[in-house]
Amino acid sequence: QARLQDRVAVITGAGSGIGLATARRFASEGAKVVAVDLNPDAGKAAAEEVGGEFVAADVADEQAVKALFDGVAERYGRVDIAFNNAGISPPDDDSILDTGLEAWERVLKVNTTSVYFCCKYAIPHMRAQGKGSIINTASFVALLGAATSQIAYTASKGAVLSMTRELGVQFAREGIRVNALCPGPIATPLLMELFAKDPERAARRLVHVPMGRFGEPEEIAGAVAFLASDDASFITASTFVVDGGITGA
Ligand code: NAD
Repeated sequence: QARLQDRVAVITGAGSGIGLATARRFASEGAKVVAVDLNPDAGKAAAEEVGGEFVAADVADEQAVKALFDGVAERYGRVDIAFNNAGISPPDDDSILDTGLEAWERVLKVNTTSVYFCCKYAIPHMRAQGKGSIINTASFVALLGAATSQIAYTASKGAVLSMTRELGVQFAREGIRVNALCPGPIATPLLMELFAKDPERAARRLVHVPMGRFGEPEEIAGAVAFLASDDASFITASTFVVDGGITGA
């Protein structure tokens, strides 16, 4: 039997990059994938490709997130996995000296408040079934001063890490595992867009990756599938780093 056979898995930001690669990986391991995205074309295409369901939702909208998880529980009878992955890294999120309040609040809302919403509305269903796995996407920039100059992004991911630890501990005895994923630089549209604006930045970043290359979305998807599965049954409140060696260097 496949490792994620018939597990009901919600993936936010499933239309692109890490979310898309994970949708493919989850489906290949037997999961029923609910692909969530703001972008209907990309989300629909992802869902169709993996034989899953597409749900259009803005993860920064509390009512939309509540409707998402309640709807999944109603249609499938359970919510086994929540991969809270949708996030933004706007090219104009820059040095603190140039970051306006509006930009700051937008990044915090999409990257952090969304995780609060997703956990808040996934946990009651997982609690009722006595089991569940939540994976929240942070970043290696939450673990070290990476000089990315992205002040809102870095802060938003640090908050995801501490929220994850707290929830992991709080729900550990109820069968709900909550882990944070810290990808290093991964070749996805999010990062490539940033590097297109500032090509020197890509070169600077590579110098700090011991493996000397960017990661591929599939290399994150494998880690997410592991954390989602029973192979990770003793892992909770953890910070799972997949970064080509950056934070170990
Ligand atoms: P991506 O831009 O390729 O994909 C993100 C997807 O999320 C897109 O399909 C987008 O439409 C969707 N999305 C954005 N805002 C949304 C919203 N409000 N509601 C619903 N969907 C929304 O990005 P990616 O590189 O795959 O990043 C995925 C996650 O991994 C993000 O949280 C990102 O911060 C994190 N991350 C990425 C890297 C990297 O190097 N690519 C490194 C560390 C962490």
